[in-house]
Amino acid sequence: MSNFSSSELLTLTGVEALGLLKKREISSSELLHAYLSQIEKTKNLNLFITQTPEEARRNAQESDQRYAQGNPLPLDGLPFAHKDLFCTKDILTTAASEILSNFTPCYDATVVAKLKEAGVTMVGKTNADEFAMGSSTLTSHYGPSINPWICAQDQDPLVPGGSSGGSTAAVAAYAALASSGTDTGGSIRQPASYCGLVGIKPTYGRCSRYGIIAFASSLDQAGVHTRTVDDAALFLTHMAGHDPKDATSVKCDVPHYPDFLTGCLKGIRIGIPKEYHHAQLDTDISHLWEKGIEWVKSRGAQVEEVSLPHTALALPTYYIIAPAEASSNLARYDGVRFGVRHKGEHEDLNEMYEQTRGKGFGAEVRRRVLLGTYVLSSGFYDAYFKKAQRVRSLIAQDFTQVFSKGIDFLLTPTTPTPAFSIKTPPTDPLAMYFNDVFSTPSSLAGLPAISVPAGLSHKNLPLGLQLIGSPFSEGPLLNAAKALELEANFTPLPLQNVYIPA
Ligand code: GLN
Repeated sequence: MSNFSSSELLTLTGVEALGLLKKREISSSELLHAYLSQIEKTKNLNLFITQTPEEARRNAQESDQRYAQGNPLPLDGLPFAHKDLFCTKDILTTAASEILSNFTPCYDATVVAKLKEAGVTMVGKTNADEFAMGSSTLTSHYGPSINPWICAQDQDPLVPGGSSGGSTAAVAAYAALASSGTDTGGSIRQPASYCGLVGIKPTYGRCSRYGIIAFASSLDQAGVHTRTVDDAALFLTHMAGHDPKDATSVKCDVPHYPDFLTGCLKGIRIGIPKEYHHAQLDTDISHLWEKGIEWVKSRGAQVEEVSLPHTALALPTYYIIAPAEASSNLARYDGVRFGVRHKGEHEDLNEMYEQTRGKGFGAEVRRRVLLGTYVLSSGFYDAYFKKAQRVRSLIAQDFTQVFSKGIDFLLTPTTPTPAFSIKTPPTDPLAMYFNDVFSTPSSLAGLPAISVPAGLSHKNLPLGLQLIGSPFSEGPLLNAAKALELEANFTPLPLQNVYIPA
């Protein structure tokens, strides 16, 4: 055993932990032990759907053997949590849905396999919105996760954001060192912002989607949540890459992302899209955005206003395309091919389908399936789905035009507001969808985007700024994020301040 206390172990970054592991000043097993105890302590935050402590202990021992033999893997022994949307061999994978409450995949998602090969120790599968549909984890069949940050004024428990909210809350609460997420319209960036973390959604096609339970296939992309930009670069290096099992994954070399992180932005041009000055933008966030502009300037960047004229159409376009694809992807959960079959007597096959899908899916998933089926139906296909696809092209073109003029990145807020109360969430679905106003445009365009924790609201809640880059610019994008991180000097939630409900 080392001289490190458990709080010292938990507050190490991935980069720091690897350094100490290599020097054998700490062991993977003791690092894991600290994390497993923290998972136990924070269990009322409802972070995990499934915990895997036994496998984790075995893996940590194997890591320690490799360290002892002097041939460790690149991420050997780092405690990691996977969103429960990633298939994990022989481990329950529910997509936070009742309909998959008995689903144990017989294979690993490629991202899971890659991280395993890189040596991470999986501690469990995190809670999320059902089938990744939501912005709060309130749609999870397993109950919501709770944000470990707490509102300074009214001590009101908050949502961690979503859909990857269990994953972000787990890292913020020191129950995992890093975690995976999936982002269809903002599900990595929005919860990262709500929990004071770095969250990167790479370019569409950068990480394999093989083995990720599909929500909207033309938008879904895997990414990572960490406490620092250095850690995001490190983990992403070992998640990304071409996969012959995913036809949309792109054959394009994966650089070693940490090599890009100088924090210098000399010669970089950063655009501020004027359409993101939204009337409903929280004033704390708009002030932070102004600060962010000064920060990137002080790192050498040139900042200019740009226009993305179709921005306002992104949210309605997303909420046609994503449900349309979801309605098709979720057709397989019928109690025959996949999904827990409804028990009881059924008149005929149709009634069995109705009961299975009606009871197995939650309200938000049913809403999306209905919406998606409607916009794809023959009478409305042209009016809704086809039109949305056209508008999607215009949204993508806006970005292409700005980047073709020499702009390297766009700097915007990640979300219009800080985390909201778990007790009084928006009840109108449209108000909930407004959370994604700044994240859906880059999703529709397939661009890489990152949320960087940059400051606190007047109620002491974390706020993120978003950087958006051109396709496959993850390296330089992470560097721009590093510059922001250095200037913002944001402190992750102190371990002793982790809020745990009674
Ligand atoms: N909040 C958005 C939605 O509910 C985004 C979800 C996601 O990115 N998976 O669709």
